[in-house]
Amino acid sequence: MVSFSSIQPAAAQPPAAAATTSTRTSHLLPHHHPHPDQLSLSSSPSPPTHLPPSRRHHRRRPYCVRAIDAAQPYDYEAYLFNRFSQSSKLKIAVVGFGNFGQFLAKAFIRQGHTVFAYSRSNYHAVAQSLGAAFFTDPHDLCEQHPDVILICTSVISTESVLRSLPLQRLRRNTLFVDVLSVKEFPKNIFLQVLPHHFDILCTHPMFGPESGKVTWQNLPFVFDKVRIGIEDSRVNRVETFLDIFKKEGCTMVEMSCAEHDRYAAGSQFITHTMGRILEKLQLDSTPINTKGYETLLNLVENTASDSFDLYYGLFMYNKNAMEQLERLDLAFEALKTELFGHLHEALRKQLFGKSEEGGHRRPMLAKLPKNGTPLLPPQSEAVANKNN
Ligand code: NAP
Repeated sequence: MVSFSSIQPAAAQPPAAAATTSTRTSHLLPHHHPHPDQLSLSSSPSPPTHLPPSRRHHRRRPYCVRAIDAAQPYDYEAYLFNRFSQSSKLKIAVVGFGNFGQFLAKAFIRQGHTVFAYSRSNYHAVAQSLGAAFFTDPHDLCEQHPDVILICTSVISTESVLRSLPLQRLRRNTLFVDVLSVKEFPKNIFLQVLPHHFDILCTHPMFGPESGKVTWQNLPFVFDKVRIGIEDSRVNRVETFLDIFKKEGCTMVEMSCAEHDRYAAGSQFITHTMGRILEKLQLDSTPINTKGYETLLNLVENTASDSFDLYYGLFMYNKNAMEQLERLDLAFEALKTELFGHLHEALRKQLFGKSEEGGHRRPMLAKLPKNGTPLLPPQSEAVANKNN
């Protein structure tokens, strides 16, 4: 960079060096500086002929550059760069600074965003160690005028936490985002509680502190732009927030909250339920673990570290979860029926020999209807089955 404060009259500047400097200077000059053409860099300047003869002896003194990269009182290039990088940084208030809130905050801070934390418990020391500011009073938090309020509370406490925030202290178009593992519920609460001038983005990172411990590469991130103002600044702010997850390598999946809940009940809720059932069995690692068994042990580890509140939230606040629990029950019963049916048949063979052959039908495993189709057969089919 060229130091104008140290530009001195040129005495011995070689023409080649002068030309190079002139080219470089023209890229770096702020608008209000004289154009480089106005700076004479010639080693033997001739009198300017365009001036009236009376002024020709007041020739402008020639300049040369004596310092490159000197500190500038006003460095326009650096100023523009700073302005650009500031515009891509957000002030994010993480509300609910527990397990998941802290996990996300680390990534935000790593990417240069400012994090304000607020929680029911005091996480002052943790926040400080991560480089976030911790607030014990929501009024103080909101008076920081964060760009984003990120709700990371348990599903079951979300409504009361949201209603306790002093919204009037926020900037009018603050962006509200949630990361709850269910989606229709926070969407409806946001729409009910937040005045229309706040923006709403519902998201669900489909990973946690365990599964995303090493990397977020290719892990799904679901989002639904529920209500975003049309101004460029508001659209850009949402994109900047989503970019955090894109930069970490997440697979970005835009889908409605309702669609998310349908998929999540059939996948995530089942996964957590199986993990919790297996946890109750207190499985131990053995010297002869198969790959399949290792998968089960990992599943227990992944799901058992989540709070029961989280699991309960998946059940209570996703209307599709109850059906999945019933399906699991039916599937287990059907499996037992098939097993015991085989056993029963073998016993009868032993007891009655060949005379029974062909007289007894082995019960088949009743396959459940596919996800999303009713569990009970249509009325006509039920009656027909009864008559058989
Ligand atoms: P969680 O048990 O679901 O939530 C814990 C958070 O909720 C803590 O910040 C806690 O605050 C706050 N909280 C609980 N009860 C509260 C109450 N009555 N009043 C105020 N705050 C209360 O565990 P989590 O794993 O940290 O999950 C947080 C959110 O992220 C949940 O909505 C979850 O569905 C979602 N999520 C979690 C994961 C994951 O893998 N863990 C993944 C994706 C999404 P204090 O700590 O201050 O008590």
